Amino acid sequence: MIYTDSEMTVFDSWDREHLWHPYTSTIDPLPTYKVDHADGATITLSDGTTLIDGMSSWWCVIHGYNNPRLNAAACAQISKMSHVMFGGFTHEPAIELGKALLSVAPRRMHNIFYADSGSVAVEVAMKMAVQYAISVSGDHKKTNFVTIRRGYHGDTWNAMSVCDPVTGMHGAFGSALPIRFFVPSPKSRFDGEWHDDDIEPLREVLEAHSEEIAALILEPVVQGAGGMWFYHPEYLRRARHLCDEYGVLLIFDEIATGFWRTGRFFALEHSGVVPDIMCIGKGLTGGYLTMSAVMTSREVADAISRGEAGVLMHGPTFMANPLACAIALESFKILAEQDMQSRIDHLHGIIAEELAPAQQLAQVADVRSIGSIGVIETRRPVDVGTFQRECVRRGVWIRPFGRNVYIMPPYVISDEQLRFLCRQMLEIVKTL
Ligand code: PMP
Repeated sequence: MIYTDSEMTVFDSWDREHLWHPYTSTIDPLPTYKVDHADGATITLSDGTTLIDGMSSWWCVIHGYNNPRLNAAACAQISKMSHVMFGGFTHEPAIELGKALLSVAPRRMHNIFYADSGSVAVEVAMKMAVQYAISVSGDHKKTNFVTIRRGYHGDTWNAMSVCDPVTGMHGAFGSALPIRFFVPSPKSRFDGEWHDDDIEPLREVLEAHSEEIAALILEPVVQGAGGMWFYHPEYLRRARHLCDEYGVLLIFDEIATGFWRTGRFFALEHSGVVPDIMCIGKGLTGGYLTMSAVMTSREVADAISRGEAGVLMHGPTFMANPLACAIALESFKILAEQDMQSRIDHLHGIIAEELAPAQQLAQVADVRSIGSIGVIETRRPVDVGTFQRECVRRGVWIRPFGRNVYIMPPYVISDEQLRFLCRQMLEIVKTL
């Protein structure tokens, strides 16, 4: 692609030469725009161009950038201590955040493990499931996992192994990755009819292999980075029954869906299903710092402690980082003080209305929305560089992948900004 002189001013040649950016080549990298600052739902580039943010920086900046309350919470905590080890110490931010999280989690959740990132939370959840299964069954073979296709759970080793085998990273790592059991992603749409045959492949795998399987792991209702697919909550109810029937734990990855993104505090609330283990991250700190948490039932936690090792074998340096906990607690309070159900319903109304005309376009395969997420699925893969260039020209920020052009803006976005964002998205899709 040839860039204009004015475009070149927001690229950085040193960055291009030396810094790795996610999922782009070092030989022919996608353009990366230099950001100067960000406020609320806007991001300002180094040349002064202002973009309305449709991505919440990959789902996490739920209260907008440069949020005064989160800034204040960060400053207050920094002046006390940014970090202290969690081995042998505890602190108020970790305790208060823990209480807050359990107050909104399903009642069965009882123990919390703080981890560093979404991927690490998934690693921890999978390690928990294996330690639990060995402890309860005494069988060292019950260590594998089953998951649904089109999933995404992160970039670390085990997390990768349960990502979709086609759109995920199996191609790049081949036989280095552990081999998991995959069943099709449910076809029944979130907003459509439930089809009984959707659950059959899971039943078949569990019937044949439950002795080898420690847990089923999936993203409840919304499959994010693996395909932006929203499926019927009945799948989760059936899956819960099957897990109970076959003695397999159920892990929910709520890393992308938690903190109201789908119109409920947790997406599992669409189904009423309670997992044995759940992972949260992304929006946890309002997008200020990397942090995640894994919550489990008491039964799971205690069984691990009764096992051979006697402890959960994980303990990262930055576990329960006080700064991250203090910001997360303030972020939680911001959510708790608002009628978030109405807020997300309101955003959803605008997104659904503004994106509906895309349904008529020949280049569009599907349009769907849930909570504050809107997706236009195109018939052909979208060229990210070309699409983003057009976004920047029009003053918005959207990063598509594959055939999915989607938005999940910060909850503080104004109606006017959201309508503008959706309209620009639609206009760019028309040109594809
Ligand atoms: N699980 C899900 C559902 C995710 O969407 C992501 C991130 N996109 C992860 C796990 C991994 O989180 P992180 O990037 O913080 O490691």
